[in-house]
Amino acid sequence: MPKHQTTAQQRARQAARGGGKYTQALREATGAAGSAAGGAAPDPGEPGGSRYGGHAFDYEPETDLFRCSSCRVYEVAATADDGSITPCVGMVGFGGDTERVYLLLTANPALPSYYGTALAGVVRETGLGRAPRFSYRDGRMLIETAPSVVDQLARRIDELAFTRETPFGDVPVRAVTGIEHLTAEQGRAVLAENYAAYVADYGEPA
Ligand SMILES: [Zn+2]
Repeated sequence: MPKHQTTAQQRARQAARGGGKYTQALREATGAAGSAAGGAAPDPGEPGGSRYGGHAFDYEPETDLFRCSSCRVYEVAATADDGSITPCVGMVGFGGDTERVYLLLTANPALPSYYGTALAGVVRETGLGRAPRFSYRDGRMLIETAPSVVDQLARRIDELAFTRETPFGDVPVRAVTGIEHLTAEQGRAVLAENYAAYVADYGEPA
């Protein structure tokens, strides 16, 4: 699957890599003052991507730079003058484990779908995994993690409960009703399927 970026985004990214401001470079490239930069779309068929040394660079509005959502390094810092990229060491807390496995979570149908955002937030806060873009579809959420911490993460997700208001008072409701362990290949296949479904419904993401 091709990495979907406009030429303007690619040029702006190039400028950002050289230490420039991404949004400013994007504005100059598109000639559109005040256009909001949506950041670069990660390649869903290849999470993390090999093209960027295994890093998953996401746009960080606070700094106007790209930062790896796994190892937290900035793209400018990871890129040498000759354009070569220091390989990603994996997620913080993974002890340099660069291998990837996935958990496919079934969100508790008793909870409204917007709890998915909270669930992704909790997972990210553990530092043991993350919900990549296009990870959520039809009540199921794909979580990217590493073999060394996957069991620990699965346990924490299994114990996770959200509080829900009912006419009888607040009750704890389990966040997920199912946790399926997937290999790297299976996980990427799910992401590719989700991406295809997204494109079918909404078109290519910006
Ligand atoms: Zn990285």
